[in-house]
Amino acid sequence: MSNNLIEMDKRHFIHPTSSIQQQQKNGAKVIMEEGDGIYLKDITGKWYLDAVSSLWNVNIGHGREELAKAAAEQMKKMAFSSAFSTFSHEPAIRLAEKIASLTPEGLNAVFFTSGGSESNDSAVKLVRHYWKIQNRSERRKIISLKRGYHGVAAASTSVTGIPEFWGMAGHMMTDFIHVDTHYNSTTDQAIASLRQAIEESGPETVAAFFAEPIQGAGGVLIPPDDYFPRIRALCDDYGILFVADEVITGFGRTGKMFGIENWDVIPDVMTFAKGVTSGYFPLGGVVVSETIHNVFKEKSLGTLFHGFTYSGHPTGAAVALKNIEIMEQGQLVENSRLMGNRLLLGLKKVKESLEIVGDVRFVGLLGAVELVEEPVSNKRFAQDQHVTLKAIEALHERGVICRGVTYDNTDIICIAPPLIINQEQVDQLVEGVYEAILKVQQQLGIKR
Ligand code: PMP
Repeated sequence: MSNNLIEMDKRHFIHPTSSIQQQQKNGAKVIMEEGDGIYLKDITGKWYLDAVSSLWNVNIGHGREELAKAAAEQMKKMAFSSAFSTFSHEPAIRLAEKIASLTPEGLNAVFFTSGGSESNDSAVKLVRHYWKIQNRSERRKIISLKRGYHGVAAASTSVTGIPEFWGMAGHMMTDFIHVDTHYNSTTDQAIASLRQAIEESGPETVAAFFAEPIQGAGGVLIPPDDYFPRIRALCDDYGILFVADEVITGFGRTGKMFGIENWDVIPDVMTFAKGVTSGYFPLGGVVVSETIHNVFKEKSLGTLFHGFTYSGHPTGAAVALKNIEIMEQGQLVENSRLMGNRLLLGLKKVKESLEIVGDVRFVGLLGAVELVEEPVSNKRFAQDQHVTLKAIEALHERGVICRGVTYDNTDIICIAPPLIINQEQVDQLVEGVYEAILKVQQQLGIKR
């Protein structure tokens, strides 16, 4: 059975974000078949603790009957119907209203998509539309952060600040600029980099600044506390829109409903996906401010030539509404904050008893552990030691799935378990991380 599946996988399934040659050489390493709470089981019967919520998205955990039921009920009643032009339907209307009630003040109108990449591409087009209908078409440029990840569609690939993604099909689009992130830098330096880019581009040509409240795929990079307030002020000074990409940080991940709320900053636009349905249905969206919506209402004449078949999918909307209800009833945003604190404390203790743990950081249940050769000086390992790979494999052996990040010669283990995790499970995760890193130390010949 398993060999047969591996052969079929090699022959017919081009995996997303993967090495095609490695797949052909080694076959799929793990084929999952079942999920329950924070755990996943593969076809050999081995259980894993899903410590990155799969793709940072399964916020309420696996195997929730209520969501299956919500989908089935909506599918039986009306699986799909258009929301184009003058058509609408109750699930999308109710979800838009619900999201507007959860997002920070003033962000009240939602455009739906099928995921994060479509959301960021839509945000690029909607902010450009906003400027165009005000006779400011020259405001086209999009500035974002190095190490930022915003997706792989046409524009979102270019908003992404990880060069590996640009080269795959040629190069990135024009009018996209990347500035220094706050990672391993001071707020002054990061703000100066943005200011310089705006000045050099010509402030009147910049449409928007995009950033994740916490850079996820770049390695869970948490900004200093004064970073976003100063970003907000700088954008206001130049009349530039601020777009917060909440695809990972939205829906409770950071111990607040939305990540940017950790710094009391209100963006002009927010994009979301992942946690809105906990991955039970592909759905995302863009939320715009009243100011932007009012300009649309007044000046967007004729048809808005932008819409996906599945914008506001009724079944997806029904699943999202049930998912949000479960989050609210189970106080999962609060649990994310509490369990995140416990995880941070536990992993800080792990750092004390090991030799190669550098920075340990968490906001809610979004965090990372960095592995370094010398924690005091923050000296990094040579990349040919493949420390991250070793750690991810050691974790895997112990039945813990984490995500490794190695861009720019870093060794970062990202950790973001489902928001339903409890104290015992946090302790189990901490133990698994400790044992895995201890094994890496032994492999590297580091003794205690
Ligand atoms: N933005 C962020 C911050 C993301 O982390 C991701 C996906 N990891 C995306 C956008 C793209 O979302 P999707 O994969 O659903 O297109």
